[in-house]
Amino acid sequence: MTARSAPETYQLVPTRLQERLANGTTRCHLCLWRCKLGHGQRGFCQAHVNRSGTLYNLSYGILSSIEVGSIEGKPVRHYRSGSQVMSVGSYGCNFRCGGCHNLEISWGTAALDDLARGESTAAYVTPQELVAAAQRHGAEGIAFTYSEPAVWLEYVLDVSELAQAQGLYTVYVSNSFVTDEALTLMAPQVDVLCSDIKSLDDDFYKAICPVARVEQVLTSIETAARLGIHVETRTNIIPGKNDDPVMLRGIAEWIRDHLGADSPWHITKFFPAYKLSHIAATPSETLWRAHDMARAAGLTNVYVYDDKGCDCATENLPVDAYLDQDAQALHAVKKCAAECCGDEGILLKKYE
Ligand code: SF4
Ligand code: SF4
Repeated sequence: MTARSAPETYQLVPTRLQERLANGTTRCHLCLWRCKLGHGQRGFCQAHVNRSGTLYNLSYGILSSIEVGSIEGKPVRHYRSGSQVMSVGSYGCNFRCGGCHNLEISWGTAALDDLARGESTAAYVTPQELVAAAQRHGAEGIAFTYSEPAVWLEYVLDVSELAQAQGLYTVYVSNSFVTDEALTLMAPQVDVLCSDIKSLDDDFYKAICPVARVEQVLTSIETAARLGIHVETRTNIIPGKNDDPVMLRGIAEWIRDHLGADSPWHITKFFPAYKLSHIAATPSETLWRAHDMARAAGLTNVYVYDDKGCDCATENLPVDAYLDQDAQALHAVKKCAAECCGDEGILLKKYE
């Protein structure tokens, strides 16, 4: 599906990277979970559902958050410095980080259940409306963030195509647990990848995503760079979890050797949240020690954020504030507008 054929009103759209298997099962190839799903089942992210042998994205055009700010806040420092970017997010993520600050939107379980039942009143915004909103608010780019954008790649691609045609850049803020196929699809239209390197320890990744391995994440980041996407990386240092100096030096060396000595590395502060509420915020010395080690290892662009953690959406204005649309219409109950269910009615009502 391209921007030109994006639905005018909410409906499920076919998942862009799906493989039809025997007996009506499908495999999703958007992220490295590669979920295998039977009729009525949703993937780990909860945002894709198999309906009678076809996989659909439930969250196309559904926005949880919008914010306008400088590109440096993503954080991205070596691309269009000083420009304003409109950040948007939906619901659903392919990780379950214990210290996530965006739980309601990242895991998004309640919001996605409402969509699946046909009871959601979340805002539906077409790619055209989103690009127009960004331009109205003086943004020169659009950033997909707040949770892993691969889980609504259908929308990311349509918006990016349109944004590019209008002269806007796009930023993809990611955990990089993403397939090569998804990166290949997005590379012609996505300008910047800001990716986490959370750790070099497989056990760290296993705790937030049982099937994820460090090597997969690093390979994905390297692939994005090879495909011509401008890449910057970020590590949120959590005391006792990923603050081992040897490991942090290893991240700096990996960036130097695989992305280049001048590739930016952003070191952010952890703030207590959710399952990690008992862990204190990262001490300044830890952040600066990592900085100094990275510089000693030869990285030339290392940035420390002593007052900033994740790219969170907690203090955003409501999405309505950015959209030139009637609030009642924007929040009308979302029923799938497709007619593929025939006499049995609306697709969403059939979710099991
Ligand atoms: S995007 Fe969602 S459904 Fe697709 S593989 Fe990833 S977790 Fe599974
Ligand atoms: S911290 Fe990021 S990757 Fe982890 S669950 Fe939250 S949004 Fe997803």
